[in-house]
Amino acid sequence: MAPEIKYTKLFIDNEWVDAKDGETFDTFSPHDGSVIAKVAKGKKADIDAAVAAAKRAFQRNSEWRLADASQRGKLLYKFADLIERDFEYLAKLESYDNGMVYKNCLRILSGIPDSVRYLGSLADKIQGDTIPTDGDSFSYTLKQPVGVCGLILPWNVPILMFLNKVVTALAAGCTVVVKPAEQTPLTALALAALLKEAGIPKGVVNIVPGFGEDAGVALTHHPDVAKISFTGSLEVGKLIQKAAGTNNLKRVTLELGGKSPLIIMNDADLNLAIPYAGSGVFFHQGQICVAASRLYVQSGIYDKFVKGAVEYAKAIRVGNPFDESTVNGPQIDESMMNKVLGLIETGKKEGANLLAGGERIGTAGYYIQPTVFANVNDDMTIAKEEIFGPVQSILKFDTLEEVIDRANNTNYGLAAGIFTTNLNNALQFSKHVEAGTVWVNNYLTMAHQAPFGGFKDSGLGRENGSKAVEAYLEEKTVIISLPKKL
Ligand code: NAD
Repeated sequence: MAPEIKYTKLFIDNEWVDAKDGETFDTFSPHDGSVIAKVAKGKKADIDAAVAAAKRAFQRNSEWRLADASQRGKLLYKFADLIERDFEYLAKLESYDNGMVYKNCLRILSGIPDSVRYLGSLADKIQGDTIPTDGDSFSYTLKQPVGVCGLILPWNVPILMFLNKVVTALAAGCTVVVKPAEQTPLTALALAALLKEAGIPKGVVNIVPGFGEDAGVALTHHPDVAKISFTGSLEVGKLIQKAAGTNNLKRVTLELGGKSPLIIMNDADLNLAIPYAGSGVFFHQGQICVAASRLYVQSGIYDKFVKGAVEYAKAIRVGNPFDESTVNGPQIDESMMNKVLGLIETGKKEGANLLAGGERIGTAGYYIQPTVFANVNDDMTIAKEEIFGPVQSILKFDTLEEVIDRANNTNYGLAAGIFTTNLNNALQFSKHVEAGTVWVNNYLTMAHQAPFGGFKDSGLGRENGSKAVEAYLEEKTVIISLPKKL
């Protein structure tokens, strides 16, 4: 059952190396807390070596800089083919290290080769403009890779986060140093091996597993890093933005947390809305940034909806991520489990009505029952804080105008959704809600062709979509004097 762990060292200059001080850290199974592997623990000296490798690979006449844009694209297509070849192994490794249910990993992995091909195909579509300047001059722009990029990943969907960032940066022609989350270093290393097999020149991709406080801090302060792309918590996102302006002025893309509202109108099809609202908050045990963690239900259908939501939550089978019948697996680690259980206690104390779940399951691993609270109001902690666990909070509303204001009354703005059979409701809500993605009569549908990112404190910049490479490019203006106006 357990996948073979092939790579546990740092990946620098296409070589597998130990940390300079020889230290390692343990990565644990969320299923039972056992140690899966000892992984090289990168710190400042290792980040320095990785950034130096990435800088060499980015030099003017390097193999990478001289490669045609279409060659970068072809290399990424080959990478996509290798992911397709190994997708069962990668899904197993992801599930083992991260606790995502194996069949969900397979489903996500099955769509990834096409996402890689889509982002890879952007490589030779990077174009500048010609500009009608005044006077006797001719002007055009060049779009050029920004340089060495530091890519910092979270633990919740590690493969997806790795690929969104690494493939886009490579399509743009950048070189990268990746710092995976300390909870889930394994799939990033396995993907690095596939990039090497695909023929990536040395130094273009470097992976330094390690902790935020040393490897992460070193990367975000490094003067030779031109850009940081980060996915993770708002708290760390703020630290990163500050660090990025300390020793140079790094470009920054941030994909942060959320407290996403999902609205169910009286006219909604409840056969659709109840399961979507359930999977929207319980998928991957609630450990997704776009989780529908504020569920606003209109008063006319409130009681009926709550009954259906409770039935949905109680029917979720929680267990070993590799069991065929499992729907939900464990939380990532003990500290996240305790944080979620603590917020559930706060919900009870503040007067929300606990209708399902609320407890830890067993004593081994980090399992929590799918939990439903009704009669939640906007001032309760569970309606305000990102929980990142399997907790559905149901609130009541009367009018669309009212619920738009309440949905927007948060510092976050990542995603939102509405279930309604009235087109005007859907269009009004989609226009006025402050969120980077709005789902109408569905929830959690992701598409690599569509941009993804947050309003307000949920982030800065966008990933995916046809303009994804822009985040890794500089625009240069060239103005040429001419003897005669063209
Ligand atoms: P986290 O912010 O604790 O850690 C994320 C990464 O940052 C890890 O690699 C960590 O080692 C590193 N890090 C920590 N401190 C650092 C520092 N001072 N300097 C540099 N790097 C540092 O987040 P997490 O707990 O791993 O992930 C959960 C969070 O991620 C949630 O808030 C979730 O909403 C968010 N998330 C957002 C998206 C999105 O696309 N918007 C996607 C997934 C997760």
